[in-house]
Parts: sequence; structure tokens; C-alpha cells
Amino acid sequence: MKFDILTLFPEMFEGPFTESIIKRAREAELIDIRLHNIRDYATDKHRVTDDTPFGGGGGMVMKTEPLMAAIEAVHNDNSPVILMSPQGRVFTQRIAEELVQHERLILICGRYEGIDERVLQLAVTDEISIGDYVLTGGELPAMILVDAISRLIPGVLGAEHGAAQDSHSTGLLEHPHYTRPAEFRGISVPAVLLEGNHAKIDKWRRRESIRRTWQRRPDLLQSARLSEDDRWFLMELAEEASQDTE
Ligand code: SAM
Repeated sequence: MKFDILTLFPEMFEGPFTESIIKRAREAELIDIRLHNIRDYATDKHRVTDDTPFGGGGGMVMKTEPLMAAIEAVHNDNSPVILMSPQGRVFTQRIAEELVQHERLILICGRYEGIDERVLQLAVTDEISIGDYVLTGGELPAMILVDAISRLIPGVLGAEHGAAQDSHSTGLLEHPHYTRPAEFRGISVPAVLLEGNHAKIDKWRRRESIRRTWQRRPDLLQSARLSEDDRWFLMELAEEASQDTE
């Protein structure tokens, strides 16, 4: 899968894209990340990419010409052109699953007060926010998108670990994890995990996943796919809680 990222600060991507899983995915050519400096598309002497807003007020606005030239230089197919924006649809695991279906994504990182509205009208096909807060630029949001989408590509996480059981993939939060030692500062690993009975382990994990979701994110249970056993367990949890409050 290819990512073309349009930014004024390509060096910010050093680190997140040159370490660990993303680094290995690039080396294995499972993903191809290309950084394009919007400033390279400014044609005036000082390579200006921003200007004061019409109507006055504080801040600067990213100019149309360099940004449109950058988009047009990379957009030669029907790939989505996604603006990182606090005004966009809020990024979720479902959106990551939707976007990984594309062969290529073009991501635009805004700065200052954002981009001139006409670029939105002319070239942007989608706007994505990473949450209801405002950052100084779209670079961190673009890194988050690339990371969350890349780990869904087969092979990126390695054969032994799929993303399918992760929190949000199943519609629930994932169960707790433990590794050696079996006891640490008086806290033991749940016995079922040491017994090697995989049917029992699966059942325990499913139930702990439901317990966690019920405790921390009960809103997710509204849309999660639940079996009859899951629903019984939820009733047990609710009963336990009502006894605790009596
Ligand atoms: N004036 C804009 C507004 O109120 O909607 C905010 C501009 S923000 C300071 C500058 C750039 O950071 C935006 O153009 C966008 O690319 C990026 N950005 C900021 N917060 C973001 C968020 N929550 N999700 C995605 N991108 C964000």
C-alpha cells in the first residue's frame, strides 16, 4: 500500500517511520511512504506557502497554489485525497479498516489556521480528525493514520500476531495480558492461563474482554456482536454490581 504525504515539515516523520514495525514494513515493501514537501511547489522567490486571511483576524492560511500544485503532482488516479482536520470524521478502527482497502492514500497535513477552503472544494475527497482537540499541524495525525492502517496489512505484524483480536477490531476491548514470571510482588497470573487448556483460555479471554468493555467502555457493547453466552455473562456482571451497591 502506498501513502503520499504532503507536508511542510517532512523531517517530523523521521523516527515514527524509521523505527520498529513501520520500518520493517517499509523494508519488506509492504508499505511505501513518500513524503512531499509542499514548499517545493511554491514558485515565488521566497517559496511562500501561507498568507494572511481575507477578512482579517489572526493566524495564517495555507495558500492555494503550492498546495494544489503538490496535490496535482501526485494525484494521477482515483486515490482518496484526505485532509487531516479537526473538522473531519473522527478516526476509528472501522475507518482504518475502510482505508486499508485502497491501494494508495494521499494525506495532506495542514498548518496554521488550516488550508484555503478552495483546495477543499477542488481536490479534497475526505477529511479525518484524530479526536476532538486541536493540534498545531496535521503531521502527527497523518502518522497515526499510517500506523493504524499499516498494521492491518497482512504480514506487517508478523505471522504470529494478527490485529484481529486487538481492542476495537472485535468491537470490544481486549482481555488482559500476562507474561513471565507467574508471580510478581504477590500478584499471580490467573491459573487458567497456566493450565494449557485452550478452550478454557479462550473462554476466560472472551469473558475478560467483555468485563473490561463493560467496566471501561460500556458504550461499545451497544454495537458489539455478542453471543448468548456473552449476554448471560453481562447479566452476571450487572447482578454482581447491583449486589455490591446494596
Ligand atoms: N483553525 C482550524 C480549526 O479551528 O478548525 C485548526 C487548524 S490547526 C491549528 C492546524 C492543522 O492541524 C489543521 O489544518 C489540521 O491539518 C491539523 N489538525 C489539528 N488538529 C487536528 C485533529 N484533531 N485531527 C486532525 N488534524 C488536526
